[in-house]
Amino acid sequence: MGWASLSEDACLRFASASAAVIVMLISTPSRAIESTCFGTLSNGRLENGVKLPLNGPNFSSYSPLASTLGRTYVHSKVLEVVVAAYTALEQSAPGKVFVYGETGWASGGRIRPHRQHQNGLSVDFFVPVRDRTGRSVPLPTSAANRFGYDIEFDKGGRFEDYTIDFESLAEHLYRLQVAAKARGVGIALVILDPPYLPKLFATPRGSFLVRNVKFLKGAAWVRHDEHYHVNFAVNCVPIEDYHARASTTTPATVSATPSSMRGPNLSSRRKSALSASVNSG
Ligand SMILES: [Zn+2]
Repeated sequence: MGWASLSEDACLRFASASAAVIVMLISTPSRAIESTCFGTLSNGRLENGVKLPLNGPNFSSYSPLASTLGRTYVHSKVLEVVVAAYTALEQSAPGKVFVYGETGWASGGRIRPHRQHQNGLSVDFFVPVRDRTGRSVPLPTSAANRFGYDIEFDKGGRFEDYTIDFESLAEHLYRLQVAAKARGVGIALVILDPPYLPKLFATPRGSFLVRNVKFLKGAAWVRHDEHYHVNFAVNCVPIEDYHARASTTTPATVSATPSSMRGPNLSSRRKSALSASVNSG
C-alpha cells in the first residue's frame, strides 16, 4: 500500500503517533551509565565500566592501542572526575598537556603487571613535563619504552630533555580532589616517588595537597617516578556479592589481550629494590 492510498484519517493518526514518539525520544533524559565496583583495589571487579576518552584539548591516552585493547576502563564516577579535572585545567593551567596511563579492564579483575587497578578506582597518570625550551609536552610513551613505564627520571626530576613540571602536577591533583569532592567521592591515596614530594609541596598548590590529599610516604613496589598512581574513594559492593551474582548468571566477559600487549612489563631491576612493599601500582 502506497502513501497515496492511505486515508486522510490514517495519515493524521500516523503523523500524530510519529510526533508522540519523537517528543518522547527528545524529552526522555539520556541516562548516563553508572558503574558498580566490587571488593577492593587489589581484589575487585567492575560492572558497567566506562572507557576514558582517548584524548581531549589538553590530555591524551598513553597508548591508543592499549586503549583499544581495553586497558583504560574505569568506574563511571572516576571518569567524571578525571574529565572534569582536565576541563578545569584548560582554564587554570592553559597550554599545559597531560597524559594518563593504565586504569583497568571493563569488568575489572587482575590487570598485569599491576597489583591494584582491579575495581575501576585506580588511575595512573604520567608526569607532566617540559621540554628543553620550557614548553609543556606529552611524555613520549611508546612500545619502545614500555608505553612510558620504563622511563627513569633522576632525583632532580629529569629524563633526557624532559623535566617534571611539579607545578602542573600539583595543579592536576588539586583539580582531581576538587572534582572528586564535588561529586561526593574522594581521593583515597596518591603514590608518587617520596623524594619528589617536597618538590610537589613547594608549589602554589602544595599546602592544599598537604592538608587534603593522602600520599604514600613509604616506598611502593615500583618506583613511581614517571607516573603517579591515584586511588579514588568510591563505595563498592562486597566482592562476595559479585561472585554470588556471577554464579547465577553468565560469566563476565574476560578481556582477551594478545601477548604482544600485556601492558608495561616493569623490569625486575625496578621491582627488586622495592619489594618490601605496600600494595600499590
Ligand atoms: Zn597504578
